[in-house]
Amino acid sequence: MSTIFGKIIRRELPADIVYEDDRALAFRDINPAAPTHVLVIPKREITNVGSLDPEDAALAGHLLWVCQQVAAQEGLEDFRVVTNSGAGAGQSVFHLHFHVLGGRRLAWPPG
Ligand code: AMP
Repeated sequence: MSTIFGKIIRRELPADIVYEDDRALAFRDINPAAPTHVLVIPKREITNVGSLDPEDAALAGHLLWVCQQVAAQEGLEDFRVVTNSGAGAGQSVFHLHFHVLGGRRLAWPPG
């Protein structure tokens, strides 16, 4: 099922894109929770970490590498990568995404 992120991938909806390759896209979160808040998503529609198949392992690893690239591009030495899997964990857009957060001190544990 297509989501709002599918529309961003297809350029039907504008986004502040900071990285793109054949498998991944990264763009700024519309409602940032930190000075840097970028979402890293696969171009292929995958619901969340909970729905990954064994064949998705290389793609999942690639997305984490993109998170590292984005953090470096944003000049972040310390940063957080977080993903919510399921509504009960706070997921609101059901297309896999990693939040890359940084630019301020980040508390732990999250709420
Ligand atoms: P989650 O709650 O983990 O599913 O995260 C979804 C994130 O997508 C939230 O942080 C939203 O602010 C963000 N978001 C929703 N719509 C857009 C959009 N059109 N462009 C950029 N970020 C968005």
